[in-house]
Amino acid sequence: MPGTLESFFGLRGKTVLVTGANRGIGLALARAIGLAGARVVIWGRSPERNAEAQGELAALGIDVLAQDIDVTDEAAVEQAFADAVRRAGDIHGVVANAGVASQPVPLHKVETAEYMRVLGTNQLGVMYTLRAATRHMQARAASGGPGGSLVGIASTAAVQGYANRSPYASAKGAMVALMRTIAAEYGHLAIRANTVVLGVIDTDIIPEAHRGPITAKLAERAMIPRLGKPDEVAALAIYLLGDGSAFHTGDTLVLDGGTTARGL
Ligand code: NDP
Repeated sequence: MPGTLESFFGLRGKTVLVTGANRGIGLALARAIGLAGARVVIWGRSPERNAEAQGELAALGIDVLAQDIDVTDEAAVEQAFADAVRRAGDIHGVVANAGVASQPVPLHKVETAEYMRVLGTNQLGVMYTLRAATRHMQARAASGGPGGSLVGIASTAAVQGYANRSPYASAKGAMVALMRTIAAEYGHLAIRANTVVLGVIDTDIIPEAHRGPITAKLAERAMIPRLGKPDEVAALAIYLLGDGSAFHTGDTLVLDGGTTARGL
């Protein structure tokens, strides 16, 4: 039976958790994943923004559960994940998207507290989330159930040298390594793990003062000389979460308008 668009990219019958989904890229991910048919669980710290995002998604007819959760809180992640399974059913996909930017200073000026703040969300928070996900998915798959798809949202800072971003780059580099390791550990159970390495995407994470200089740099360096759009990240995530990518794991996909691929 040849595949159909729905069998490749449709997410009907799946439940997908997106962390950091009350705005920016995460909200675009949750919207696209929901419109592709999945039930969506969204995580974020701010109860107000979570409620607003939940309302926006529900108004589109998306079946959505919002949980007020800080991914740096290990016990809270465990509890929220178990609660999500109880309330929304088995989880088939997780997008580890929650992340924070670091203060733009060179390493000799980085305070340990700042380093730990960024690692807390971007590295430990990712590990807590994906560990809960692999526990859930491997138990299901080991007893004959389906596997799952894990997607990490990293940055070109993980694979290129950007000045003044050492905490952020370190955490995103760790994410690339973690996703590859998960892919090796659970591939036999059809649990897949891939990382999307993003260039600059137009969201509030970019300080207003940096927008002009970044746009000028992109005009010079990127093959497609503009900022990316959150929906363009969502389109790639839909592929990675769907059954059309069932043989795709351990990969690091670059979505940056060709900035990394450009030569001198
Ligand atoms: P935003 O700042 O717009 O959104 C970040 C989201 O993460 C919010 O929903 C925020 O909600 C949530 N979040 C932050 N910290 C935590 C936490 N400790 N626990 C739970 N949720 C948290 O960022 P973007 O949408 O731009 O970025 C999303 C991801 O994409 C990040 O991982 C970022 O590093 C990555 N990325 C972004 C790029 C860009 O150019 N925009 C480029 C490369 C990578 P709340 O504050 O309520 O918790």
